[in-house]
Amino acid sequence: MDDVTTDLLIIGAGPTGLFSAYYAGFRGLRVAVVDSLPELGGQITAMYPEKAILDVAGFPSVKGRDLVEGLVAQAATADPTYLLDRTATTLEHGEDQVVVTLDDGTRVAAGGVLITSGIGKFSPRPLPAGEGWLGRGMEFFVPSFEPYAGKDVVIVGGGDSAFDWALNLQGIARSIALVHRRDAFRAHERTVQQVRDSDVEIITKAQVTKLAGNGTLESVEIEVDGATVTRPAQALVAALGFLADLGPLQEWGLEVLKRHIVVDASMRTNLARVFAAGDITEYPGKVRLIAVGFGEAATAVNNATVAIDPSAKVFPGHSSEGT
Ligand SMILES: Cc1cc2nc3c(=O)[nH]c(=O)nc-3n(C[C@H](O)[C@H](O)[C@H](O)COP(=O)(O)OP(=O)(O)OC[C@H]3O[C@@H](n4cnc5c(N)ncnc54)[C@H](O)[C@@H]3O)c2cc1C
Repeated sequence: MDDVTTDLLIIGAGPTGLFSAYYAGFRGLRVAVVDSLPELGGQITAMYPEKAILDVAGFPSVKGRDLVEGLVAQAATADPTYLLDRTATTLEHGEDQVVVTLDDGTRVAAGGVLITSGIGKFSPRPLPAGEGWLGRGMEFFVPSFEPYAGKDVVIVGGGDSAFDWALNLQGIARSIALVHRRDAFRAHERTVQQVRDSDVEIITKAQVTKLAGNGTLESVEIEVDGATVTRPAQALVAALGFLADLGPLQEWGLEVLKRHIVVDASMRTNLARVFAAGDITEYPGKVRLIAVGFGEAATAVNNATVAIDPSAKVFPGHSSEGT
């Protein structure tokens, strides 16, 4: 793998990382962005590309996929070097630079590093009965609805993703059952009510105990109230949440509090030339929202610009001034 030299290395290509990439370009920095996922967009792309987001400034409602598309187009103005499907594993300080090594051996030397790694490297929480069924009818994500057309779908879980997908697959799937082991849900109340008011069958205090089919999924067994019922299902979505792993970042000497990186008001971490923004940061009053990540991205990049080039100013001027 070729080594990369850049001004700013961004670790994480979620919404915060993508907006940071744009901002780095606006500040005249060369920028590289690494992500352990093969696609851009972080949690949005991985977990809810089809969901309508209502709380991004300037967009009364924007589909996750469309927001990411806009962020990628905006970031393109910075001509970023994307290093996808690779995880940042080590960080060392050199003279006037930081060197980050990726899991494929690539070494990235940067004047500064901005960590926008969200909830860390995340992997879906497995469904024990689903072992061996991934790609044969069972999925962890619903990146597009089309594969579910005309199918009997079982969704397992009681959180936002499970309820969002149940709602969104209506009118597409032939039937939808949502199976949850408790009768209380972690999902947004309004979404739960919408699902209750819909044709989705909610089966609580229940567990999927077996997936069956000849090659691909044909039915599932559900244990409910001590009895086992068999239900036709050509698709099962295991929406049991994620095992988030801060992973290698924990070994870098960063001050970490409750799995988040502590930053000051300029988004500076305890390590020289290393900044953080977005869901990964921690400070009193922190709120984990896309809108907040965007603001932190601008603060982080402007302050990183000065760390990289001490003759630069923190305040960049207004982007509209050059147009
Ligand atoms: C179902 C659901 C619905 C949501 N709805 C909303 C909503 O309506 N409004 C809202 O504001 N927020 C919402 N959120 C939260 C929102 O998605 C997050 O606040 C946002 O994604 C945080 O962005 P980020 O860029 O900081 O981190 P992330 O989106 O988590 O991106 C971080 C990226 O860093 C990568 N990464 C981590 N560690 C490494 C490493 N070591 N090396 C390389 N790459 C790494 C990850 O692969 C990931 O792609 C929702 C979240 C979920 C799950």
